Amino acid sequence: MSSIIQLLPDHVANQIAAGEVVQRPASVVKELLENAIDAKATDIKLIVKDAGKTLIQVIDNGVGMTVTDARLCFERHATSKIRHAEDLFDLHTKGFRGEALASIAAIAHVELKTKQDQEELGHHIIIEGSKFVSQEVAVLPKGTSFLVKNLFFNIPARRNFLKSETVEMKHIMDEFQRVALAHPSIYFTLIHNGSENYNLPSSNYRQRIVNMLGGKTNEKLVPVSEDTEIVTISGFVGKPEYAKKSRSEQFFFVNDRFIKSGYLHHAIMNAYDGLLKEGNQPSYFLYLKVPPHTIDINIHPTKTEIKFDDEQALYAILRSSVKHSLGQFNVAPVLDFERDPNLDTPYEYKNKGTDAPLIQVDANFNPFAEEKPIRTNSNSYASSGNYAKRDTSNSWESLYVDLRQDTKEVESIAFESEEVTGSFFESKETEITPSRTYQIHKKYIVSSIKSGMLVVDQNKAHQRILYEQYLTSITVKKASSQQLLFPLELHFSREEISFIQELLPSLENTGFIFDGIQEDNIHITGIPVSIQESEVSILLEELINGLQNDMPESTFSLNDGIAKTMAKSLAVKTGTYLTELEQENLVNGLFACKDPNVSPFNKPTFITLSVEDLDKKFTL
Ligand code: ADP
Ligand code: MG
Repeated sequence: MSSIIQLLPDHVANQIAAGEVVQRPASVVKELLENAIDAKATDIKLIVKDAGKTLIQVIDNGVGMTVTDARLCFERHATSKIRHAEDLFDLHTKGFRGEALASIAAIAHVELKTKQDQEELGHHIIIEGSKFVSQEVAVLPKGTSFLVKNLFFNIPARRNFLKSETVEMKHIMDEFQRVALAHPSIYFTLIHNGSENYNLPSSNYRQRIVNMLGGKTNEKLVPVSEDTEIVTISGFVGKPEYAKKSRSEQFFFVNDRFIKSGYLHHAIMNAYDGLLKEGNQPSYFLYLKVPPHTIDINIHPTKTEIKFDDEQALYAILRSSVKHSLGQFNVAPVLDFERDPNLDTPYEYKNKGTDAPLIQVDANFNPFAEEKPIRTNSNSYASSGNYAKRDTSNSWESLYVDLRQDTKEVESIAFESEEVTGSFFESKETEITPSRTYQIHKKYIVSSIKSGMLVVDQNKAHQRILYEQYLTSITVKKASSQQLLFPLELHFSREEISFIQELLPSLENTGFIFDGIQEDNIHITGIPVSIQESEVSILLEELINGLQNDMPESTFSLNDGIAKTMAKSLAVKTGTYLTELEQENLVNGLFACKDPNVSPFNKPTFITLSVEDLDKKFTL
């Protein structure tokens, strides 16, 4: 029998290897940026179109390549960075495997332009799917430009597998941020679809962090510095009172390389012990320098994990130096966990002095008029959605600006819900007799029904009501807004701003009015009728956080996610006292829902206990 084993042709082998290195456009960005840094560039431009699906270009002013190197660099295992196996234990460059360019060239159209400083002319090479297309001499500036077009053009399955533009761009921004934060002395620019997302001039670490994350960041940072034999630590941690819900501002760099380490993260959390509110995440930007031979560099190129020789010592040093900094900068006394977060607007809005309270008062509210909607505080279901809109003749109606007014529609929705809402307590055909409600432990609402008794979870029930309202307003019928007397100015990082832009159309449908979105702040002039000004920043942060952790694939699930987050964030909380009318409205509102049985997160909203069930309990 003849032998059957054959060597794979190079382009096939490269394509297979490419799968490992290039998972998505962001992988290409990472490899090209790292090569530019290894080439000692001081100015690096990243240009991206359609979140990298159409084009990724990195232009640097580094050392450039000779004509031979320019051809060789696309070969597999072609690297200038190591010569001997021992070099692996003393690595000072980002790349060393010589795989990235071969992989990228195997699955895209690549154009390389490069010129060394001392040369008169540079070289222009085109390669498509590992196939050499052309090579020319060209007049070029010093440095290298890699242009990568049509990623995965020859692997349609991979191309189709790419996520939405927002998701892919988020990955690219993550890579860009990590590299730019690790190398503040390098000038970085990021241009996406023709507009400049980042322009980060050469600076120090602190200034780079501030330029990257927005103007307000500076006052949040506390420096950390420690010098031991095992490790040198520098960088910043965030003051605890600025801690956020998301983990988007947590960065470890080891020898100028971004890494992830659950273990070291734990050390930081440990240092913050007792200083953070439940669920809050501190910001940190920590730069560790360790001798190269004490870490395992033989890691997978796309992985960000790392193995340290003496992890335990590192943990202890990190923990104590962060703790020391927090103590030294006298952070602890500022904390006061008992204060009412509603009084606490974390942004400079609070510097505006004491403005008269606005829009919250219903002057015409008549406590004796039954079945009238009431507006108490924003946390109350009574103030939300249908209830607030139901009676347009109320005087407080004038305080709301109905943007796209279509009163007829609104009324018909209100009428519908009114008709249905009546049914729970007053229905003829259901076996429920009207009955008063009781609130138990500021958590459950209990009422007698014909078959026995009803127990409603106030928080979950309200989540259901709000969820259906928000979903309707986002997808079917834009909701009303309450105009703010003074625009609300909120600060966010650029990445966060880009998320808000993603959410913009949906948020506008829920009643938000945005008046200007700048690089790192937004102005809000109108908010949904159902929420309070003080809740806005928390709500937006939760929405961004949700997106950062899990970006939905489709508009449908994006809208669903927004409605869920808003419902969860704004629903009346366990522990809130409700008046009897509020309790009743809540129960009515719940049973007017399309799907009253479960919360948006699939938890039961109510249970019933039959008289027989109760009887059994007493005859045991
Ligand atoms: P590695 O970075 O692991 O060496 P790559 O495939 O990323 O492998 O790059 C191969 C080689 O091409 C590098 O070792 C380097 O010599 C050269 N090279 C790549 N990008 C640049 C650049 N921007 N400037 C100068 N040389 C470069
Ligand atoms: Mg490389």
